[in-house]
Amino acid sequence: MSNVVEQHNEVVGRIEKVCKRSNRAASEVALIVVSKTFGPEDITPLLDDNCRVFGENRVQEAQSKWVDLKQQYSDIELHLIGPLQSNKAEDAVALFDVIQTIDREKIAKAIGKEMEKQGRKLKLFVQVNTGSEPQKAGILPGEAVGFVKKCQEDFGLEIAGLMCIPPFDENPGPHFALLRKLAEGTGVSELSMGMSGDFETAVEFGATSVRVGSAIFGGRG
Ligand SMILES: *Cc1c(COP(=O)(O)O)cnc(C)c1O
Repeated sequence: MSNVVEQHNEVVGRIEKVCKRSNRAASEVALIVVSKTFGPEDITPLLDDNCRVFGENRVQEAQSKWVDLKQQYSDIELHLIGPLQSNKAEDAVALFDVIQTIDREKIAKAIGKEMEKQGRKLKLFVQVNTGSEPQKAGILPGEAVGFVKKCQEDFGLEIAGLMCIPPFDENPGPHFALLRKLAEGTGVSELSMGMSGDFETAVEFGATSVRVGSAIFGGRG
């Protein structure tokens, strides 16, 4: 068995364990394999092992591998988890199945327009900057509920859930709790939170999907 497949299985096992401990069904938590910086040669063993849910943070990089891989393997669900420029909306809507990083009106509008134009319906998440970090993407926590409402009512978008990336140097628990509270305030049900270093904590706080890269592929150098 290839190393990435083994490491993927190990992450799946850890998710199952924490689900059991938190009285959750393992089927409630999706594992998004974050393949950014890794090429088809690293990804293919996972595809051959029936993994189908992947995440990338750059549109162009994702195109360079996933246009071909999506032709070779059916049923792939590709998530955009990195910041999006509105001039990339067309390419993003054409390639991705889920966009997790809606965080301002301009992007929300551009994505809505493209989905209509291309006749494609993507699943959408609003990214929340739970730590209010100046350099980080995401809507500020105080504006999140209003923004989700605006996306739904003014732009006609269906928002499935919220996503966050807690500050690197802080205990992630309070950020996951805040995201969950904001989701309850808006009535959306999905929570994308937790990465290699903290996905077990995220599951305890109610994550419905975790985004894991280096614990599966190793370091990105
Ligand atoms: C890179 C990335 C991940 C995965 O990070 P790891 O620590 O390698 O698991 C998750 N979410 C986002 C938004 C990322 O950019």
